[in-house]
Parts: sequence; C-alpha cells; structure tokens
Amino acid sequence: MSAAAYKIIDHTYDAVVVGAGGSGLRATMGIAEAGLKTACITKVFPTRSHTVAAQGGIAASLGNMGPDHWTWHMFDTVKGSDWLGDQDAIEYLCREAPAAVYELEHAGVPFSRTQEGKIYQRPFGGMMQNMGEGPPAQRTCAAADRTGHAMLHALYQQSLKYDADFFIEYFALDLIMDEQGQCRGVIALCMEDGSIHRFRAHNVVLATGGYGRCYFSATSAHTCTGDGGGMVLRAGLQLQDMEFVQFHPTGIYGAGVLITEGARGEGGYLTNSEGERFMERYAPSAKDLASRDVVSRSMAMEIREGRGVGKEGDHIYLHLDHIDPKVLAERLPGITETGKIFAGVDLTRQPLPVTPTVHYNMGGIPTNYHGEVVRLKDGNPDSVVPGLFAVGEAACVSVHGANRLGSNSLIDLVVFGRATGLRIKDTLKPGTGHAPLPKGSEELALGRLDHFRHAAGEAPTAVIRSEMQKTMQRHCAVFRTDELLTEGKQMIRGTYAKLADVGIKDRSLVWNTDLVETLELDNLLGQAVVTMESALNRKESRGAHVNEDFPDRDDANWMKHTVATFDGWGGKGGEIAIDYRPVHDYTLTDDIEYIKPKKRVY
Ligand SMILES: Cc1cc2nc3c(=O)[nH]c(=O)nc-3n(C[C@H](O)[C@H](O)[C@H](O)COP(=O)(O)OP(=O)(O)OC[C@H]3O[C@@H](n4cnc5c(N)ncnc54)[C@H](O)[C@@H]3O)c2cc1C
Repeated sequence: MSAAAYKIIDHTYDAVVVGAGGSGLRATMGIAEAGLKTACITKVFPTRSHTVAAQGGIAASLGNMGPDHWTWHMFDTVKGSDWLGDQDAIEYLCREAPAAVYELEHAGVPFSRTQEGKIYQRPFGGMMQNMGEGPPAQRTCAAADRTGHAMLHALYQQSLKYDADFFIEYFALDLIMDEQGQCRGVIALCMEDGSIHRFRAHNVVLATGGYGRCYFSATSAHTCTGDGGGMVLRAGLQLQDMEFVQFHPTGIYGAGVLITEGARGEGGYLTNSEGERFMERYAPSAKDLASRDVVSRSMAMEIREGRGVGKEGDHIYLHLDHIDPKVLAERLPGITETGKIFAGVDLTRQPLPVTPTVHYNMGGIPTNYHGEVVRLKDGNPDSVVPGLFAVGEAACVSVHGANRLGSNSLIDLVVFGRATGLRIKDTLKPGTGHAPLPKGSEELALGRLDHFRHAAGEAPTAVIRSEMQKTMQRHCAVFRTDELLTEGKQMIRGTYAKLADVGIKDRSLVWNTDLVETLELDNLLGQAVVTMESALNRKESRGAHVNEDFPDRDDANWMKHTVATFDGWGGKGGEIAIDYRPVHDYTLTDDIEYIKPKKRVY
C-alpha cells in the first residue's frame, strides 16, 4: 500500500502542543488562555506522562526554611551545569521560579507544609546558600515524595478550564516543514482507530519528554522514547549536547526504579562494603548531597575498586534506617513502599541496594529562553526556526548544561512552558489566516508509517531495541574512554543498520503496539547514534560526560554546545554532521554579572 491510500482528517489550529507532561500542559494552558485556538496531542493519557513519577520536588528560592535568593539558585545552577549552561536562560529560570511555584500552589498543588503553613522545602544536591559557599539551602518545594504526581494532576485539571482540544492517545509521527524552513504543523496517528490526522498550525510546541529508554537501566517510563527529538532529526534540524546523560545515584539495584534524592535530603547516606560513608572522601563539604554526576561517579569508583556491596559487589547501600519512622512516613511514604515492592526491603530497618541509573537527558532540541527552537545556520548560532518551539526534557534551553541539579527539571517545565505561551501570545494575533500547506506535506510521515507497518524483515523490534540499550549502557555510561566509545560507535551503527531488516507481525492500524514501538525505536536509534558520536567527539570531561582519556574540563577548547544532525531513518543513511554553538556567556539583566568559570568542587 502506498502513502496515498491513507485517508487524512484535517484540522487547523493556531498552536499545537505535542505532549501533555508538565511542560506540555503548562504551555497548552498559556496558549489557550491567550484566546488562541489550541490543541494538545498526547500518546498517553495526560496524567500518565512521566512527570507523574517525579518524587523529590521543585526548586525555587522561596526562603521558607532559611535564607535564600534567586542569585544563589542561579550560581548553583551554573556551577551544576559545569559552565555549559546559558546564563541568560539560567537567570530567567531562577528569577521566575518563585512566581511559578506560587502559581502551582494557587492551581491546587497540595504542597507539604511547615509549622507556620508555608510551603515545605528540603535540601537537594548542589543547592547552597551564599553563592555556593554554603551551608546547604532548603530550596526544593515538595508534596511529600509525590511532587510530580501532584503537579501533573493540578495542571491537567487547570488546563480543562481553558478551551483547548485534547487529542488523547494520538501518536505524533512527523513535523510538516515548508521550503522556507518554517514549521507548519504535525501529522499524527490516532492509535484507537488508526485514522491519520493532519494538524495545520502557526506554531508547534514539542513537549515530548526525554529519551532515557535508549539505555538498558533507566528510571524513566517506557514511553520516554524521544519522539520529538526523532522528528527534529528527520526535519534536518540539530540536536544539542546529546552526550550529556544524567545517571541518578540511587536507582534500585536490578529494578531501575528511582529512590528520590529527597531521601538523602532528609538525611539518608551511602555506604560501601566496609560500611564506610565514602562520600565524605569525595565531597568533604556536600558529602551525600554533592551533585548527581559527582555522587554517581564516586559510587562507580567504589564498585570498581572492589568496595561494592552484594554477592557480585556491584552496588551500594543507601541508609534511611536511622531516620525516625514517623518522618519517613510523612516525608517519604512513596519510597518506603517502593523499597518494599522493588527491593523487598523494610527501609526503617535495612539499607536499600542502589546503583547509578540513567535518569535525565540534558541534551535535546536547542531553544532560546522563549522556547523558540534555534539552529546554527549561515554562521548565526541563534537562528530561530519559525513556527517551532520545544519545552521540557525534550528541549535544551540550555539551563542544565552538562549536568542538571535535582529539582531543577520540574521548575524548568513550568517556567519555560509559561514562557512559550507568552511568546506565542506576543507574536501571533488570534484569527491570523493560514497559508495552504506545502504539497506532499504528509509524505514523510505516511511513507515512514507505511514502511514500518509492512516491514517483513528478520529482526524483531524487541531484539534490536535490547541490543541498542545494552550497547548504550556498556559503552556510553558513567565512565567513558576513547576505546569504549569508538567500539560503541561501531556497534550502535551496526544496530541502527539492522533496523533496515526489522519485521513486525501486526499489519492493522488499530492499537498496533508492534508498529508504534517500532516507530519509537526508530526515534531512539537516531538519538542513540547522535549521543554516542557526540560523546566520542568531545575530548574533555565536563559534568555528566567523563572521558578518562581526557580527565579535565577544557574550557579553552570545549566550552561550547555540540549540535548534531542525523540524516536518515529506518536503518538507512545516518550521516552525522557535528558543529558547535557558543555558550551564552552573558546574563539577561544587569542585576547579576556573568558567573565566571572555576573548578567545580563540592
Ligand atoms: C522517576 C523520575 C523522578 C523524577 N523526579 C524529579 C524531581 O523530583 N524533580 C525534578 O525536577 N525532576 C524530576 N525528574 C525529571 C522530570 O520529572 C522530567 O524531566 C519531566 O517530568 C519531563 O517532563 P516533560 O513535560 O518534558 O515530559 P513528560 O512528562 O515525559 O511527558 C511527555 C509527554 O509527551 C507525550 N508524547 C511523547 N511522544 C509523543 C508522540 N510521539 N506523540 C504524542 N505525544 C507524545 C507523552 O504522551 C507525554 O504526555 C524525575 C524523572 C523521573 C523519571
């Protein structure tokens, strides 16, 4: 069957948001509130988006539990990013954060409270007072250990108040780009009945989340397959800083399920096989609350040097057994349950077995602080792609640079989700007419859909996926070397090529999970290749990217964003072009000066 045989249902909107996690819902609300005709497309029911799993909290310098200031939050974020974050965007994030949290409070998020009834705030890794001098700042606002759950439900309830149309369980396939390089809409498959939908829109906002499922052991949901990043690559656009993948120190050994950093925020600590609190050696002042890359690396070091725990000596213990059970029940009820279910541990008495687990993608679709997608074009590193926005984990603003601080993602979702709404409101008049779509606007999306639907090769999707995940886990993890990465590059290229021989069994269009998982795998594979090659290309160690052959940060040569394109899909082509964008070494206002690079110690 050819692409032309599919019946297409057409829609016209001012803006279409793809994704209904925290960032997508916040963007949808803002755009709809501005009186613009808005649609939100999502492959899972909104409240099942991965944001629902966020536990620990959301950072904002409210100062409810000790002195705090947005400039201190900014300093910590810049330092956390290992000076790869753009300081104009970081200023915007930290300045706007308190208002964004109050907005959530007013929207109905049931935050935990202090004695006086203020929003409860806990310490989190890398969050300090006095421009990094310390002591730790209590900056992370929390609704027990279910902050994301509370946030997502409140945002979904709020968004129903506005006149936005939700297309639920619709799978976005590809962007519609015109010859001038403007984004003109998006094509989606309704998974329930197999109908094809073409959304014509002045603006498309990609809020599709991360691509953690490139890896074998990840805390993210199985739906985190980086579909937005895949669409962007197929549109010939760049992805940025993909070599920076965050490993969370405390995934439950074996299961990969997350134990929030809030556990250490409430006093939890790590020990090795000798019962030693080893973080005191690696980070004498911040100890267990050093930033995630530092703690993960220290754990990996202990395991490598033979001081891991368990039969195979391949993990570490997290202790919460010294904390008053009443505090655990009140502040960390979810992880008490998680420990029981996934590790069979009663954490009021026993330590939890944990290991560094893939958790967050710092890299993604490059944007400015308005959420507008940018690209390096004709020598201009900040050239805006008209009609296209990205927010949330799918985007790289870049506020997290080479390493994200815990609780800085939830705040990124709402601050930049809101900023995107404001930008669209400022740049688009309600009722603006639509030009006709370019000819063949559906060809890429439907050609690809049809190709995979009829794929009759030898290799099952699950086999190729598992090969990709194991290669990424082995060759592109906490410690990297040129040799590991070079080998990894060959292997991941080989896996990508196998996709040309994929075979699926189900040819229908109704709830065809075989097909959808194959489309997702295609999205993941392009990004896996880009991640591996960007990592091999960066000859230094910075934040989450550590190449042992180049153990130091090299500001003279490498304080710059990697941008990469990937030309191909379905195992064909796969040409990569790597280039660079400068890091923004300026702030947004004169209220704070550029924070100069120094060595990062905790
Ligand atoms: C277990 C866990 C705990 C975390 N805890 C914290 C925390 O305490 N604090 C913190 O700051 N951060 C935390 N994070 C990180 C943070 O939660 C995520 O980065 C963030 O929630 C991502 O939100 P998002 O809006 O970008 O995307 P998501 O919430 O991942 O949502 C993606 C949306 O895109 C839609 N979508 C994707 N592809 C398609 C497609 N092809 N077609 C249609 N729709 C599509 C999905 O349906 C979904 O609605 C945690 C992450 C994990 C995994």
